[in-house]
Amino acid sequence: MKNTGRLPSWLKRRMPASDSFAHTHHVISSLGIDTICTSANCPNKGKCWDRGTATVLILGDICTRRCRFCSVGSGKPKPPDASEPRRVAAMAEEMKLKYLVITSVSRDDLADGGARQFAETIKTCRGKNPKLEFELLVPDFKGCPEAALDILSGAMPFVFGHNVETVPSLYSTARPGADYQRSLGLLKKAKQKLANVETKSSIMLGLGEKDDEIIEVLKDLRGIGCDRLAIGQYLRPTKDSLDVVEYVEPEKFEQWKEKATELGFRWVKSSPFTRSSYHAEEKL
Ligand code: SF4
Repeated sequence: MKNTGRLPSWLKRRMPASDSFAHTHHVISSLGIDTICTSANCPNKGKCWDRGTATVLILGDICTRRCRFCSVGSGKPKPPDASEPRRVAAMAEEMKLKYLVITSVSRDDLADGGARQFAETIKTCRGKNPKLEFELLVPDFKGCPEAALDILSGAMPFVFGHNVETVPSLYSTARPGADYQRSLGLLKKAKQKLANVETKSSIMLGLGEKDDEIIEVLKDLRGIGCDRLAIGQYLRPTKDSLDVVEYVEPEKFEQWKEKATELGFRWVKSSPFTRSSYHAEEKL
């Protein structure tokens, strides 16, 4: 369905006013934790926080890139905060998490792209709860992929996620500063360097991509051994972000799920509200 300026019925959702939502909000705000749920205006925040999950955004909420689908602020970030790993570990403990997804802004200003802060955060959390499982959603570590992966290898195990986000023909509009081949290369290197790692990626639909372009992306990801895939609807997070070109019908997401499974992805989520971290803990 073309974007006519009105949200289709299947994309309307209310924010719950439950005690569990309030508890999640309290823990996160009292510890001064950033989340991508809030920074990206995620439409699932109500559902996820209500069931006591959230995705932590480490290394600040200022990004060195300016992707046009994302509402995270851009500019000069602050140095990594040494107290952040401890605060995230306290959050995981207070929320009694079993599975924690950690992401970050792009930190092209840091020699390691922020990898050390990811590793420190995992180690500190594991120090409090050795059973906690992790999933990382990392930036593309432009210029330092080998060094970043070496650092992360000391904090295994985790699911290694990096999103290609969209089809290559839309990179210059949606992800200026990123490079499709660089993103694929990082996922490929992760698979080679990190023992037994499962890799994961995600794409948004509705930015004007063509079906045959989506199929090529899925094949490219399988070609580098990517295990997990999330496909969701792009929703404009702010009025300055890219417009939605199309609202893809839920049935079409089901078809993409079948196609992705047929191509060999072991774990696939595909629906309008799917985001890379949405129900990430589900084993399937
Ligand atoms: S889908 Fe991910 S980013 Fe969105 S609210 Fe849930 S945990 Fe947060």
